[in-house]
Amino acid sequence: MRTIIEPFRVKTVEPIRSTTREQRVAALAAAGYNVFGLTSDDVLIDLLTDSGTGAMSSEQWSAMMRGDESYAGASSFRRFEAVVKELTGFEHIIPTHQGRAAEKILFTELVNAGDVVPNNTHFDTTRANVEHQGGIARDLIKPEHQALHVEAPFKGELDVAALEEVIAEHGRERVPLVTVTVTDNSGGGQPVSLANLREVRAVCDRHGLPLFLDAARFAENAWFIVKREEGQQDRHPRDVAREVFRLADGCWISLKKDGLGNIGGVLAMNDADLAERCRAMLILTEGFPTYGGLAGRDLDALAQGLTEVTEPDYLAYRVRTAEYLAELAWDAGVPTVRPPGGHAVYLDAKELLPHIPPHELPAQALACELYLTGGVRGVEIGTLMFGRPQPDGAPDSPARHELVRLALPRRTYTQSHVDYVGEVIADVAARAEELRGLRIVSQPRWLRHFTAQLEPLPG
Ligand SMILES: *Cc1c(COP(=O)(O)O)cnc(C)c1O
Repeated sequence: MRTIIEPFRVKTVEPIRSTTREQRVAALAAAGYNVFGLTSDDVLIDLLTDSGTGAMSSEQWSAMMRGDESYAGASSFRRFEAVVKELTGFEHIIPTHQGRAAEKILFTELVNAGDVVPNNTHFDTTRANVEHQGGIARDLIKPEHQALHVEAPFKGELDVAALEEVIAEHGRERVPLVTVTVTDNSGGGQPVSLANLREVRAVCDRHGLPLFLDAARFAENAWFIVKREEGQQDRHPRDVAREVFRLADGCWISLKKDGLGNIGGVLAMNDADLAERCRAMLILTEGFPTYGGLAGRDLDALAQGLTEVTEPDYLAYRVRTAEYLAELAWDAGVPTVRPPGGHAVYLDAKELLPHIPPHELPAQALACELYLTGGVRGVEIGTLMFGRPQPDGAPDSPARHELVRLALPRRTYTQSHVDYVGEVIADVAARAEELRGLRIVSQPRWLRHFTAQLEPLPG
C-alpha cells in the first residue's frame, strides 16, 4: 500500500521557531513548569489541542469574503443553515460562538437541580454545564472498554444496560435528556458504532426521552464506522454522518473541531418549542439568532468547512496521522491508549515512568521533558488535572490514568513534523529513568491544571 499523503498542497506558510534547549529550560521555568504558561513563539510543534487550531482551505478563505455582516437576516446564515440542515436533518439551527455556549443554553432550558444527565463520557465543559444547573453528570462507558491498552473498534460506546439502570434508579422524570459524545473525546477520541446509537435510540424511545449528540468529531466518528463496522464499508462517510444525526432529536457541535473552523458552534434540534426557548436565551447571551455570536464571515467559512470535512481523502489522512504517531511511540517503547483515536495520541506516563508516583505528576514530567527535548507541547491528563489536594499535607488523590495527550491540529502539520515528534518521544523514552517528578507550588481552587505553578523535585 502506498503512503497516505496530506491531501492538500501549501499556499500560505506560517513560520515556526526553533529554540535551543537552554532557551526552552528558561521558558519552562518562567512558565512555572506549566505548558499552558508558555508563549506559542517558544513552541515548535504545538499539540496542546485540536480545537480551533486547524488550517482553513482556500475555499474557506474565499467564502469569508462572501460574509454578509447584516445584523439580521444575513445571507451567510442562510448558507450555514442550509449546510447544517442537509448534514443533520434538524429543523432548527442555532449558531453559537463555540460549543460550550450551545451547552449552556441547552442545559439552562432542560436541566434542573437534581436531574441526571447520562452520557458515554461528558467532556469537561459539558460536565461543568450540567453541574452548574445542579444536575448530576453520569458517565456510562462499558467496563470492558475502560482498559487503556485493550484493542476494540468502538470503545466510546454508551453502556445501554447502565443507561437502563440509571433511568430505573432515578425515574424517567429526573432524566431530561440522554446524550452521546461522538467521538468520545475524554475517553481518548474513541468512536461510537451505529449499532450502539440505534440501541440508545431504542431505550430513549421506550422511555420517551430525547437523545442529543455532542458531535464535535462527527466526521471522524463516521469514518471509523465506515472502516470498522460490519456492513458499512461501501458507504460515503457523509452518508453515515447523516444517518447518525437522524438517530437523535438534536445535537450541539463545537465547530472548532470537525467544523474546520477557528471559532464557532451550533445547537440544532427538531422540537420547535424548545428551539424557541433556546433562541430567547441565545439573544440574551450570544446574539441575534441569525449570527449567534459569530461574524457572517465565520458562518460562511464554517458552512464550507462542514462540506469539506467528510471527504474520504481528508479523513483517511486525518485518522492515519494519529495511527502513525501512535506507531512511532510504540516503536520507541512508549505505550499509548489503544487503538489511537481520531484526533490525538495519548502517551501512558504511568507505564513509562513507574518510578514517579502519581502525586509527583509523572505525566506532567513527561509533558515537560517533551517540551525541553524538542519544543513539542502536549498536555497532561492525569493527577495535575484530576487530583485533589488532601488535608494535612497528605499526597494528592491520584487520577485513574497518567496520560500526555498529543492532539493533532487539522491540516496543519506534515508527515515530517510527525516524524520529528516521534524522534523527540524516542529521545525522551531512552532517558525515561532519569526523569524526575514535580511539586505543586501554588494552585487555584478550580481547574488547577491551567494555571498551577510547579517546580521540579531534586534529582
Ligand atoms: C470542544 C468540545 C466541547 C466544547 O466546545 P468549545 O467549542 O471548546 O466550547 C464540547 N464537547 C466536546 C466533545 C468537545 O470536544
